[in-house]
Formats: sequence, structure tokens, C-alpha cells
Amino acid sequence: MSDTITPAARSTYDVVVIGLGIMGASTLFHLSRRGLRVLGIEAHGPLHDLGSSHGQTRIFRRAYWEGEMYVPLLNRSYTGWMELDDASDDRIALRTGGLFVGPPGSRLIEGSRETARRCGIRHEYLGAREISRRFPAFHVRDDAVAVHEQDALMLFADRARLSYLSRAAANGAHIWYGQAVRSLHPEAGGPVRIRGDGWQLSCGATVLAAGGWIGEFLPEELGDLVTPMRVPVYEFEVDRPRARDHLPDRFPVFLYEDDEGTLVYGLPKWQAVGGGLRVGFHNRQLSPQNVNDARRPPTDAERMDLWRTIRGLLPGAQYTGRGTSCVYTMSRDQSFLIGRSRELDGVFYASACSGHGFKFAPGVGDMLAQLVTDGESAIDLSAFTPERFRAPVEASPY
Ligand SMILES: Cc1cc2nc3c(=O)[nH]c(=O)nc-3n(C[C@H](O)[C@H](O)[C@H](O)COP(=O)(O)OP(=O)(O)OC[C@H]3O[C@@H](n4cnc5c(N)ncnc54)[C@H](O)[C@@H]3O)c2cc1C
Repeated sequence: MSDTITPAARSTYDVVVIGLGIMGASTLFHLSRRGLRVLGIEAHGPLHDLGSSHGQTRIFRRAYWEGEMYVPLLNRSYTGWMELDDASDDRIALRTGGLFVGPPGSRLIEGSRETARRCGIRHEYLGAREISRRFPAFHVRDDAVAVHEQDALMLFADRARLSYLSRAAANGAHIWYGQAVRSLHPEAGGPVRIRGDGWQLSCGATVLAAGGWIGEFLPEELGDLVTPMRVPVYEFEVDRPRARDHLPDRFPVFLYEDDEGTLVYGLPKWQAVGGGLRVGFHNRQLSPQNVNDARRPPTDAERMDLWRTIRGLLPGAQYTGRGTSCVYTMSRDQSFLIGRSRELDGVFYASACSGHGFKFAPGVGDMLAQLVTDGESAIDLSAFTPERFRAPVEASPY
């Protein structure tokens, strides 16, 4: 997939994308589709597990409890996932529906319902009896309610990343694996110079999609806005007689909020044999971590903590002992950082996806490609720029 890059070729790129997690891979594809000469640089291999984008599956949902400001990007991303699925040999997106379960009045239920209603997203509101009848793996309290989003998807994460990268390469993109970018240097009157170990290059524009490492490149601008966090994720198996209830046609991707506001997410088994349920906390067990040291597997205490939270909800699930840890790159308000650098000319970035960014990759990649080439994007991204953290300067009374 990767092309060898000769020193002569190195000065001829319109755009260089740094970091090929799902955001960089999608951006590289969308830039290459526009006919630009693009280079993607990735410190590791195409499917390494040191960032945030690896693994089998992710959730795509649009009835976003987090707010309707995300919906335009989600709508664009939905179309993008369908396109990628159509164009790929392997399945990239599977319509499982999404079940968002919690106490009445919780922010998960009210937020999902509100966004779905206001943005015309197909959904239904279910009581406890209906939840158990339709989704037998889920055992809920009598007062529990759910928002069911029929068109939510399970995304196949590694396949999606590989598909974007191979489609970008087919469009002529060059990809350079195993090369860490060490620094970006402003050049008088021109674009930045990109430096690695024993090489350097210039290009028309640079897109930074370096996940938890992004603050190293724009320390003034983003350094104190992003915090990499270690977050464990667990795999569960189910007894053979009950396995059927945990397959995608009866077991939607789900979010569950308990009385304390703890949020758990989960995805179905996707094969009758192998490929267990994946479950994790979204807003607990997050610990600030040096991004290069976040792979520590879950501890016994962490496992017990998760098990206590979900054993009533999913009585058929048995912990397999398989668990990993991964990186959430958090911003202060758990939203994204997308924009154009004020620190370095011709540098654009997308990161701090705060543990919910995968689903947005087609939309973000397309909008970044527009920003780079046209100077503006069809979807308003102002809600995602760091400007939101910069307090307005109060007028002096004197
Ligand atoms: C366990 C877990 C579950 C999740 N579940 C969901 C979900 O269900 N739905 C959802 O929407 N989101 C989910 N997310 C969040 C989502 O996966 C992330 O938001 C997304 O993958 C972030 O992608 P990224 O490309 O920004 O970062 P990354 O995947 O971290 O990619 C950054 C890349 O940059 C490279 N890089 C860094 N520095 C350099 C350098 N100096 N030179 C060259 N390359 C460099 C890295 O090697 C890496 O490959 C989940 C995340 C985790 C960890």
C-alpha cells in the first residue's frame, strides 16, 4: 500500500497529513479524491494499537445526547460511511440500531430524545417491558426507559481505516509508515518545514491528525487544551444457548446511564463464534496518562467496577479476562478541536475527539479537505475551534 518516497519527490506535495489514525486516514482519502498530491506520514504501521483508532468495532449514532450541534457533521459522516461500505470489499458499517437506556429524565435519555426530535432522526421511546421483549439480552428495572435509534450503526474500525488508506493510495496518495515527525518549523513567507529523523520537507499545507500527541506540535495553541487519558475496554462472552440474543439483529449498539450518571457503552458479538461483546465505561476509569504509556491492561479492581455496573443489565455476559487499554484524547469540554492554526501558517488540525470521534471521521476528513483547498467548509466548524475556550477580554472601565 505504501509508496517509496524518493528525496526528489519530497518537495512536491500539496498537502502532508501527519498521523494516520481514522481522522488522518479519512482526510488523506478526501484530499486525494480532490486530485491533490498528498503524503500521509505515520509514526507506526497502518494498524498499530498505540493510538485511539484500532480495534474491531465502534458505535455510530445520530440521536446525540451531547447536543444537536454535532448533527450536520454526523449526517455527512453517515453518507460517508455508506459510501465507504459500498466501495469496500469487506463490510464497514452494519445497521444494528442503537439502544440508549437509562432512568427517565437522565441526560442520556432526554438529550438523545431532544436531538432526535429536533433534527428529525428516526427513533422510538420504549418502556421497560418493551425493551426486554425486543432485546432479550437486556434486563432493565421496571422504571427504565430507552431511546431506540433504528439507523444507528456498528462500524468495523480497523477495516475502515485500512479501506480509507488503500483508497487514498489508489487515488495516488503516498503513504510513509514508521516515520515520526519530530517538529514543524515556520519558514519566512512560506509554509512550515516538516522535520523527521534525517529528513525534512515542505509542502503547500499540513494537516495535523496526531491524536494524543497533537499538543506537542502546537504547544501554545493546543498544549493545555488536550489531555490524553488511559481508558480500559473489556470483552465478554455469552453462553451458547444465549449467544443468539447477543448478535447484532437482537442486540443493538448501546449506551447505558445508571442513577449516578455513569455511562457505559457496548457493542454486540458480531460473529456466532468468536468476537465477544465489547463493553467499557465512557466517563469512569479515565486516568490522565502519558500518551506513550497508556496500554496498561485493566486491573482487577477496574474489572470488578465494570462488572458491578453491568451485571444486572447483561446477565448473560461473562467476562473473558480479555481487556485492553486505549487512549481517549480529552479536551476540556469533551468536544473536538478542529481548525486552522494561528501559531503556524498553513497548518490545519483535527483532534481531541474525547472518546467519541470515530463516527465523525468521514465528515471531519471531508470538511478538513475543503478547509485546506477552498479556505472554508460547507459545514460550520466554529463550535469546534479552540476559540470557545478563550474568554472574551473584558473592556477596561478606564
Ligand atoms: C476504547 C475506545 C472506544 C471508542 N469507542 C468509540 C465509539 O464507539 N464511537 C466513536 O465515535 N468513537 C469511539 N472512540 C473514539 C475514537 O476511536 C477516537 O476519537 C478516534 O479514533 C481518534 O482518532 P484520531 O485519528 O484523532 O487519533 P489516533 O487514532 O490516536 O491517531 C493519531 C495517529 O497519529 C500518529 N502520530 C502521532 N504522532 C505522530 C508523529 N509525530 N508522526 C507521525 N505520526 C504520528 C499516531 O501513531 C496515530 O496513528 C473510542 C475510543 C477508544 C479508545
